[in-house]
Amino acid sequence: MFLRDDFLCYNTHVEQSYSELLEKSLDATRRALLDIVRDQATQRGLPLYIVGGSVRDLLLGRRLNDFDLTVEGDAIGLARALASKHGDTVTGHNKFGTAKWFLPANLKTDHRTLDLISARSETYKHPAALPTVRLGNITDDLRRRDFTINALAIRLDGSHFGELRDDLHGREDLQKGLIRVLHPRSFIDDPTRMYRAVRYEGRYGFKMTQDTLALISEARALIDDLSPQRIRHELDLILEERNAVSMLKRLDELDLLTPIHAAIANFSQSNLGTLKLDDPALQNRNSRWILWLMHLTDQEIEFLNERLHFTADLLKSLHSAAVLNANLTAVIGLKPSQIVELLESYSHKALEVLSSAVQDQVIKNILTKYLSEWWYVKPKTTGHDLKKLGIPPGPKYTEILRRLRAAWLDGEIKTEEEEKKMLNEMLKESN
Ligand code: ATP
Ligand code: MG
Repeated sequence: MFLRDDFLCYNTHVEQSYSELLEKSLDATRRALLDIVRDQATQRGLPLYIVGGSVRDLLLGRRLNDFDLTVEGDAIGLARALASKHGDTVTGHNKFGTAKWFLPANLKTDHRTLDLISARSETYKHPAALPTVRLGNITDDLRRRDFTINALAIRLDGSHFGELRDDLHGREDLQKGLIRVLHPRSFIDDPTRMYRAVRYEGRYGFKMTQDTLALISEARALIDDLSPQRIRHELDLILEERNAVSMLKRLDELDLLTPIHAAIANFSQSNLGTLKLDDPALQNRNSRWILWLMHLTDQEIEFLNERLHFTADLLKSLHSAAVLNANLTAVIGLKPSQIVELLESYSHKALEVLSSAVQDQVIKNILTKYLSEWWYVKPKTTGHDLKKLGIPPGPKYTEILRRLRAAWLDGEIKTEEEEKKMLNEMLKESN
């Protein structure tokens, strides 16, 4: 998993043609794909827009690896026409007017599909609910969004190519570096937006406006109503960001961690809060979860899991890391074979993170040695060989192989001959 690139080149102050800017920001394959969709929309008389975060990033002078397209009208019909002309298939979701075109080989980018979405309006039946969706026009579609900087669109069809739709003054906020909600109920409708706001602040070095900040206090209590999947998704996205640490500090400062669970308040005291994250082993989301939570007790991790529903794999590593973290000094002064025996029961992922994060140099060396060397040491003899020697299969096999491995680890044997000799002696002893 790669972290998001935080390279920025501010273009927003320069008046320029948006069509040119768009073409410059896409590589040839993506440009070809966009041209094909534009042509088809133009032929069908459908207003087509590139919308949301893609426009924001475009105006910030970033290269676009991805774009979101919205159609005023029938997105599924447009996708079907594209598939019948250029190949491959479409799946559509009629109720929401969304279509997924499985791209033919010559049009594939690093994405295998292209989503086409009908412009829609969204309303919320109750706070923190999922929205009720109705078809609408581009104005409705911009109004349903989270922040002004994400409520921008550039029209793509026919002679309209390059027209900026900025009904909510997102461009100005982009120039000023401001994150601003579109209406006062925004965080109440969807409390995940508070986490999104902090992510954009941290990613772009922007700030929420005073009005937007002031809306947090009223919406904080509704975080409780968010499903585990939704809240964990937001934290996952934050942990994938290069500036994850400063974003989590900001969440803590705004008291947006305590409502998720008291155990994760005081972020600054966690390992994630105190360490530099430049180690390559820490450039992925799960390592950062482990680093963040490894000082918690088993019980706290279980409570947190009820709130966030971690994947089974991550949950196992979290528990393992917490136990390991609490017992790290136990590895000091042991023989390699004893260390291996001790560490083997821990998750590999937990060991990797701890070996990068631990401050004590002696412990760090031991963990590194275990991961890079000792873990791989195996005796030459196998269960198969023992069978050939006429030893009846059973728990004895494990014991013999374990003793041989320990001898290699502790330097008692160094060659295959020495191993054979030791094996013979062990077999004699047991007869
Ligand atoms: P990123 O670079 O993180 O992907 P993005 O702006 O593309 O940022 P997405 O989550 O991909 O964000 O969503 C695409 C667009 O959909 C956003 O720009 C925003 O306009 C809208 N959007 C996403 N999530 C929400 C939300 N919770 N409430 C309102 N609008 C949203
Ligand atoms: Mg996006």
